[in-house]
Order: sequence, then C-alpha cells, then structure tokens
Amino acid sequence: MARPIFAQVNLAALRRNLGEVRARAPETQVFAVVKADAYGHGLDRVLPALADADGLALLELDAAVRLRTLHYTRRILLLEGFFEEAELPEIAGRRLATVVHHEDQVRMLETAQLSRPLEIFLKINSGMNRLGVRHADVAGLVERLTQCDAVATIRLMTHFARAEEPEGLQEQRAAFDAACAGLPYLRSLANSAGVVRFRDVGGDIVRPGIMLYGATPFPHDSAEQIGVQPVMTLRSEIIAIQDLAEGDSVGYGATYRSTAPHRLGVVACGYADGYPRQARNGTPVLVCGKRVRLAGRVSMDMLTVDLTDVPEARVGSPVVLWGEGLPVDDVAYMAGTVGYELLCAVAPRVPFVVSNLGRLDLEL
Ligand SMILES: *Cc1c(COP(=O)(O)O)cnc(C)c1O
Repeated sequence: MARPIFAQVNLAALRRNLGEVRARAPETQVFAVVKADAYGHGLDRVLPALADADGLALLELDAAVRLRTLHYTRRILLLEGFFEEAELPEIAGRRLATVVHHEDQVRMLETAQLSRPLEIFLKINSGMNRLGVRHADVAGLVERLTQCDAVATIRLMTHFARAEEPEGLQEQRAAFDAACAGLPYLRSLANSAGVVRFRDVGGDIVRPGIMLYGATPFPHDSAEQIGVQPVMTLRSEIIAIQDLAEGDSVGYGATYRSTAPHRLGVVACGYADGYPRQARNGTPVLVCGKRVRLAGRVSMDMLTVDLTDVPEARVGSPVVLWGEGLPVDDVAYMAGTVGYELLCAVAPRVPFVVSNLGRLDLEL
C-alpha cells in the first residue's frame, strides 16, 4: 500500500467561494489570483472551477502561457509585469495583460514592435512601498502610455498593505484616489481583504486570492466568518501507536514529555510533505474527526499526536492536517505563519486528488 498522505482539492468549494466573491463585489470584474500554482492547489487542477471568473491573475509568464495552451480564453493579468523587453512579443502574442509598475517598463513599451497592443495596468504606489509608481509621476507616465503604439488600454491599480485594518485602507485609498484624480480609466484595488472589508473600495476589477481557496486574510476573522470553505484538505493516517508512560519524551530534541500515561499516534506527514516544522506542541490535528494535539517536534516524514481523547483511534485511522473540519489558518497560527504559506508549501511528493462531487456541485 502507498504511503497514506494526499491532498484533496474540492472544486465545488472553490466554485462556491468564487460565488461568495461575486456576491460581495457585484457588478465588478473578478480576476481570480492563481499565482504560485494557484496557491499550491495546482493551476491545471483548479481551472475548471474558475470558469466563471472574468479573468485570472498571476505573475509567472510560463504559467500564463500554459493557460493559453489549455485553451483558457478570458483575460490573464501578469501581476509583476514583464522583466525584460524580450518577453513582450510573447505577452502580446498570448494576449496577456500586464502590470506596469516602473518607468523602465514604459520605456520598453515605447520601443517595442508588437503584433498587437496590450492592456496595461499602471500600478500606483499608495503606501505599500513595494511595487508601483509615485503619485507625482502618474500623469506623465499615463501621457506617455497613451502615446505608445504598444498600448491598447490603460487601467489603474494599487495594492493594499493593511487592508485588514480600516485606517490603513482609508489612507491608501485616499492616496490612490488623489493619484488617479481625473483619469478616465477602470481601477483595480481590492485583494481578498479588500473584497471582504470594504464593499465600495474594490474598484472596477477585484483580485481575490486567498479567500477563493477558503482561507482567511485576517488575523481575527476566520474563513467561516467570511463565508468561505476550505478547498484543500491534507489527509493522512495513523501509521503506528505508542503507549507512553508518565515522563516519556517524544521525538527529536524531546520537546514533549508526557505528564500521564497515554497513547501517542504517529502520522505519516512531516516537513518534507510541507507541514511546518515550527508547529508547536498543541497544534490541532484531526484524528477520526476529533481535534487532538501535536506532541513533540515535527520530523521530516512523521509527526506525533496525543490520542488521549480518541480511544477509538488505531493504525489506519484517518487524519486531517488541515482543510475540512480544521482551518489551515489555525494550524498556521500555531506555526507562527499564515495559511497562505502552508497552502503554497505542500511538497511535490504529496499526491493530489480532485473531488468534484457532493451536494454543492449539484447546487451550482
Ligand atoms: C497576491 C495578490 C493578490 C491576492 O491577494 P490575497 O490576499 O490572496 O487575496 C491581489 N493582488 C496582487 C497584486 C497580488 O500580488
């Protein structure tokens, strides 16, 4: 029998989460963010569930080209734009839209000879201070882009650094509005946090990522509270059981010591599968559908859990590391990180299966 770990991707949940975005941002174009191989879920795998989105956004050119070879016909936006002029013919040939966040890129567009002109998202720095042009440069760059044969359409875009905090968002919103004043172009502002928090600020095109995958962008509001369901469930099984005496330690570094005799379950899942080694004692794990506690350090191929509260557990009992019944955000919290990182980090050795069945599918 194969090692029992696998990741299950629930396309019905993904479709429903996209519906939740639509409900929160009606009359807005939705570009589903699928960077990093669809947040670790697999671009090819999730594509059928995103058919209703107006477009997709990502930043890897090879993945964008792959979408075209898979006959994806709607719009595709490159979130970091292009890195050298040599990429422009492919971008034009594949009908990709691209971010322009720097004057160098404008210069490359001015000299490029393209098969067709491009849809451009001019990215404005409204306070994130990562990518984007400065307010003072917007008018001049827009003027140059409108003169440019390689440019068909201009959009204006920004990205929120603190969309989870109302004040942070309002400051950036004001900075963006000031920079765009008088410019007659469609605007794109909101990521997931923006979509959830502030119905009116998303602009004309929203760019949700994490909420589509059923995790939360917020430290305090759960995925359930924002109305989304987990898409990825990382599953495994108990592969051994140990009976611990009081005072026995477990695993490398003996970071866990039992305070009473209890049963310990060994789960086929470790950091080489993408489970975070930083997960602390007490991190939740589901065994037979019940929450138990991680006990001892996560090793490369295994982790161990306290089975005190699950007397029915035995070798072969089902384990959920995150997903259905256990939000990835809860696990991430105990590992000092965010759900995004765990979803993106599932290792190549973990097989994936797609589940597309169930009640939700019938509804949609
Ligand atoms: C990743 C990304 C998003 C999506 O962010 P979420 O927090 O996952 O919703 C939106 N816009 C840009 C520019 C991004 O890079």
